[in-house]
Amino acid sequence: MIHRYDVIVVGGGMVGLATAAAIGRAGCRVAVLDSGAAPAPFDPDRPLQARVVALNRASEALLTRLHAWPRIQQWRCTPYSHMRVWDAGGHGEIHFSATELGQPNLGHIVENDVVQRALWEAVQGRDNVDWLGEAPLQRFAVDTREAIVTLDDGRVLTAPLLVGADGARSRVREAAGIAVRERDYGQRAIVAVVRIERHHDFTAWQRFLPHGVLAFLPLPEGHSAIVWSLRAALAEDMLALDDEAFRAALTDAAEARLGEVLWAGPRQSFPLVGRQARQYVKPRIALVGDAAHTIHPLAGQGVNLGFLDAAQLAEVVGAARRDLGSLAVLRRYERARAADNGLMLRLMEAFQAVFVNDLPPLAWLRNAGLSVADRLPPLKRLLMAVALGTADPALPELARPAGP
Ligand SMILES: Cc1cc2nc3c(=O)[nH]c(=O)nc-3n(C[C@H](O)[C@H](O)[C@H](O)COP(=O)(O)OP(=O)(O)OC[C@H]3O[C@@H](n4cnc5c(N)ncnc54)[C@H](O)[C@@H]3O)c2cc1C
Repeated sequence: MIHRYDVIVVGGGMVGLATAAAIGRAGCRVAVLDSGAAPAPFDPDRPLQARVVALNRASEALLTRLHAWPRIQQWRCTPYSHMRVWDAGGHGEIHFSATELGQPNLGHIVENDVVQRALWEAVQGRDNVDWLGEAPLQRFAVDTREAIVTLDDGRVLTAPLLVGADGARSRVREAAGIAVRERDYGQRAIVAVVRIERHHDFTAWQRFLPHGVLAFLPLPEGHSAIVWSLRAALAEDMLALDDEAFRAALTDAAEARLGEVLWAGPRQSFPLVGRQARQYVKPRIALVGDAAHTIHPLAGQGVNLGFLDAAQLAEVVGAARRDLGSLAVLRRYERARAADNGLMLRLMEAFQAVFVNDLPPLAWLRNAGLSVADRLPPLKRLLMAVALGTADPALPELARPAGP
C-alpha cells in the first residue's frame, strides 16, 4: 500500500521533530521516520543526562509556538542568568549578566532527550503528522514529481519533498550525492554530569585553555554538565583516568573557581568535526540540522542553528503556492540558511584558532581583548544578541521572540 504525504522527514531527533511539527503547523501532511523507537516518557526520578544543549531565545520562541516549551519547563530545564568566560593564560575575563542586558535570563540548559520527548509529544498531538519509529531509511528514489521511500517492512511512502534530518552521517545526504566540506578539529568533547563544592549560581562558566575549552553548564540541584573539548590524545588520557584523578584534573582545569569537583557521573566523548554540506537542497530534497552542518560546541550553537533551519524550511514550504519540493521553492530555504550557518561555522573556527593556542602574542591579545570587551557595553550587547539568536533581523517568523 502506498502512503502519500506532502513531506517525509527522515530522522526524528530534535531537529527532525521540530521540522515535522513546524511543517505540520503550516497545514501539510507529514511523516517523520526514525531508525529508533519513540523517545521514553519523561521520568523525574531518572538521573540527569550528560547530553545537554544550551537553548537560546530564538529556539525558545520556536519551541513555544510548537507547544513543546511548556512541557520542557514543567519537566526539567535550568535558566542561566550569567555567563563568565575567562582565559587560562592571564587575567582576561568577560562577564555577561541578564539583568545588565535587560533580559530575564541568557538561555536554558536542557537535556537532549527532554527536548526530544517534548517535541515528540507535540508531534503526537497533531493529526496531520505521523510518527514512524523503528523505520530506518535504507533507500529512496526521486522522480520528477516525488520522492519514494520503501521501508524494510514493505511500506511505501511518497511525497513531493523528502527532508534529511538524519544527523551528521546523513544517509539522505549521501544517497542524494551531496558533497560535504569537512574539517576534523583533532579534538574530542568529553561530557559528564558533575557536582561541585560551590553552587553554580545559575552561571555558565567557560575557561579557554591552551589544549581546549572547558564549560560548566548549570543543571538542577546544584549539578552541572561539563563539555570539555580537548586534543584527541589528551581526551583519551582523561577518559582513562580513574574517578578521583578525573575529578582532580577537572578541578585543576577550572582553577577551582567553583571549588572542588566532588562527584562526576559516567563520561561520554564525541569526536569534533566541522561540516557544511555543499548544497542544502536538490530537487525534492532538503537537508536540515546536523545533516546540513555541524559546528564546534564551544558556543553551544549546533541545535539552535538546526531549529532555525526547521523554522525557515517550514516558512518556505508553507508559503509555496504549487510544488513545495521544486528547486525554485527549496532554493529560498537554502539562500536563507546556508550563508548564516557557514558564517557561524567560520566564526567558531576563528575563535578556536585564537583561543585554543598558547603562542604568547595570542595569549596577550585574547586577555586584553576579553578585558576590553568586558568594559564595552555596546559590544557585549551585540555578542549577547548573537548568542541569544536575536541579532538577525531576518529571523524566520516562527523563531522570532514575542515582543514585550
Ligand atoms: C558535546 C556536544 C555538545 C553540544 N552542545 C550543544 C549546545 O549547547 N547547544 C546546541 O545548540 N548544540 C549543541 N550541540 C550540537 C547538538 O547536539 C546537535 O546539533 C543536535 O543534536 C543535532 O540534532 P539533529 O536532530 O540534527 O541530529 P541528531 O540528533 O543526530 O538526530 C538524527 C536522528 O536521525 C535518526 N537517523 C539517522 N539515520 C537514520 C536513517 N537512516 N533512517 C531513519 N532515521 C535515521 C537518528 O536515529 C536520530 O534520531 C552539541 C554537540 C556535542 C557533540
